[in-house]
Amino acid sequence: MITGFITSDTYLKHKTGSEHPESPQRLEAIINSLKSSGLWDQLYHINPTIQGETNYVNLVHPMSYQKRFQDAVDMGDTFFNSSDNPISNDTYMAANLAVSGTIQGINTIMNGQCNNAFATIRPPGHHAEESSAMGFCFFNNVAIAARYAKSIYNMDRIVIIDFDVHHGNGTQHIFEDDPSVMYISLHRFPFYPGTGAEDEIGRNDGRGYTINYPLSVHAGDDVYLDIVNNSIADKVLSYRPDLIILSSGFDAHELDPSGGMNVTTNGFNQMTSTFKQLADSSCNGRLLSVLEGGYSLKGLADSVHGHLKILSEESS
Ligand SMILES: [Zn+2]
Repeated sequence: MITGFITSDTYLKHKTGSEHPESPQRLEAIINSLKSSGLWDQLYHINPTIQGETNYVNLVHPMSYQKRFQDAVDMGDTFFNSSDNPISNDTYMAANLAVSGTIQGINTIMNGQCNNAFATIRPPGHHAEESSAMGFCFFNNVAIAARYAKSIYNMDRIVIIDFDVHHGNGTQHIFEDDPSVMYISLHRFPFYPGTGAEDEIGRNDGRGYTINYPLSVHAGDDVYLDIVNNSIADKVLSYRPDLIILSSGFDAHELDPSGGMNVTTNGFNQMTSTFKQLADSSCNGRLLSVLEGGYSLKGLADSVHGHLKILSEESS
């Protein structure tokens, strides 16, 4: 399998301050791990560029919100919207390039240059609402990617599986009325950001297409794998998606400083295998994985390394 690897030095220029867990060192740890094992040389490298002619951020976020964000950066503000969201000179550019990188991942899958892809981006996206930044997120990368795949490649059904330890409130809200995007989340609950109860199942035509698995603190591999293999797999296969997008947060790792869960690197690997098999069975292997959280540098680097190794192996 050819696996795309999307990253850019610009993602390192979004500075959050020395105490902030969502740091540029996260991406450096991932890249160093891939280079030291040699896996780096087996990946198809994609260096994203801003695509000037069309603003795809508009697919989710109104111009008024984008302008407010850009103005805050241009004015030299230190935060945007929330004290969780520090900004620096290059934050607006990095956030736009995170969207571009995610979209270019879809393009390289759809034009056959790679079978699947991992977007090693920051800032992350799943907490971003249409008109507010929160939880380290500014633009909802996976939500924009799903709308992009629908509009450019005429996809009818997309599944987003979000295994970040935090619930993706932004992604859920953006698609809660929409049966063409199934949003599935496993997350610690109750926990930040407070959403993601089991009875949040979508609204109107989207009823039944939001699926939440709230988990108790300290949940580990057995709990996660039971849900992924015995519940999520059936739901994805019967939905028959055209594309699977993963909101890949690795902050449920046992080494994570704030997640409070006990998933091991091997547990993440086994989940990745199942997600890959689901993509093989339902959509010709089309799978785009997009980085969200993960704040233990070792836990993150080891887990992403395993994730990419499995994505790039030949399917059995
Ligand atoms: Zn998270």
